Amino acid sequence: MTDTAVDEVVSLCQDLLRIDTSNTGDPRTTVGERVAAEYVAEKLTEVGVEVVIHESAPKRANLVARIPGADRSRGALLVHGHLDVVPADASEWSVPPFSGEEKDGYLWGRGAIDMKDFDAMMLAVVRDWQRTGVVPPRDIVLAFTADEEAGMTYGSQFLVREHADLLSGCTEAIGEVGGFSYTVNDDLRLYLVETAEKGINWLRLHAKGRPGHGSFVHDDNAVTAVAEAVAAVGRHRFPMVVTPTVRTFLEQVSDALGIEFDPDEPELTIAKLGPIANLIGATLRNTANPTRLEAGYKDNVIPGKASATIDCRTLPGQAEIFLEQLRGVIGPDIEIEHLQQQAALETGFDGALVEAMSDALRAEDPGARAVPYMLSGGTDAKAFTTLGIRCFGFAPLKLPPDLAFSSLFHGIDERVPVEGLRFGARVLDRLLRNS
Ligand SMILES: [Zn+2]
Repeated sequence: MTDTAVDEVVSLCQDLLRIDTSNTGDPRTTVGERVAAEYVAEKLTEVGVEVVIHESAPKRANLVARIPGADRSRGALLVHGHLDVVPADASEWSVPPFSGEEKDGYLWGRGAIDMKDFDAMMLAVVRDWQRTGVVPPRDIVLAFTADEEAGMTYGSQFLVREHADLLSGCTEAIGEVGGFSYTVNDDLRLYLVETAEKGINWLRLHAKGRPGHGSFVHDDNAVTAVAEAVAAVGRHRFPMVVTPTVRTFLEQVSDALGIEFDPDEPELTIAKLGPIANLIGATLRNTANPTRLEAGYKDNVIPGKASATIDCRTLPGQAEIFLEQLRGVIGPDIEIEHLQQQAALETGFDGALVEAMSDALRAEDPGARAVPYMLSGGTDAKAFTTLGIRCFGFAPLKLPPDLAFSSLFHGIDERVPVEGLRFGARVLDRLLRNS
């Protein structure tokens, strides 16, 4: 890839950052997805790529394009990025969040790392190929989705449900959140490739009691009951379970840092990880965090019911066991309502695609070592995996050693290092040419 082609990733990313695609979770106030999809369409059709745009609802646009490969009998590789972002409160930012400003070696803006950086890399690579006549070894399917930030209903889930034909033949996929560097020392950087994701289980707990007057002695109060359950869940630590992905990650990281890995005390290793400790720590156990409470309508009336929402994240293979454990914590009288459930995923860190990732990283950074890790959150991979596609998080970025990367996701002053972005475009180019 020539430097000129690499340069384009910066202006493409800047353009995308300047399109406000805030996803509020409410279709009435969500904006910009259609505008962004049309921008992507223009950049692709300009170089001769055919695109299709499907709206799941007015202006909730999803774009898919297929680049034919040399061997069309092989399984296709899906490369996906979402176009929506979480909202940003401009008053909290150092720069206007939709300015795409370049400052201090970074592009600043909501979506800079989540994930308009990778959207721009996809465009830069494919535009370069089209201009220079590069044909990838197998079909590459590009998908730019809506609604990743609010449950995927209008985005990847819609594509999987209504337009699976566009994804036909896809056997593997790459998308967010992986491929970023964690610096061990000047000569060694670990690049975390996402090979697993925790499952999502949003639950509402309901307590019932005897309604009554607030002035009486009352021993059957729904507010008290739900509060006790919420407090118990909030303070509970579920047992540690070291899955194959997390074990491999910790072994590799211990080796790189020159420390002993004790499988019985993985938290000791994690405590030494600095900026990514938080990211990895959440993948050692199932978690359940109370997020909402609802009860009552008047200060002196004891309501007959009260409820609370719990955001639960489960390890691969733990969904059933988790519910049993949760029941043990909240007791028998609380009713559980299932609001949203998405399965965890986990794949091995092996095969030709994984080798191609390692090779592409090493070619651009001789100090690179690719390691697998599990993401505690969720991505569009959750939808694509239901089609039997083997999903990885690989949106390559070389990061400055001191950057608190994980706190930039949905964070104030989200920004991407310009050199890291250019690095990512070169790595993606190499990977897609050799996969
Ligand atoms: Zn994202």
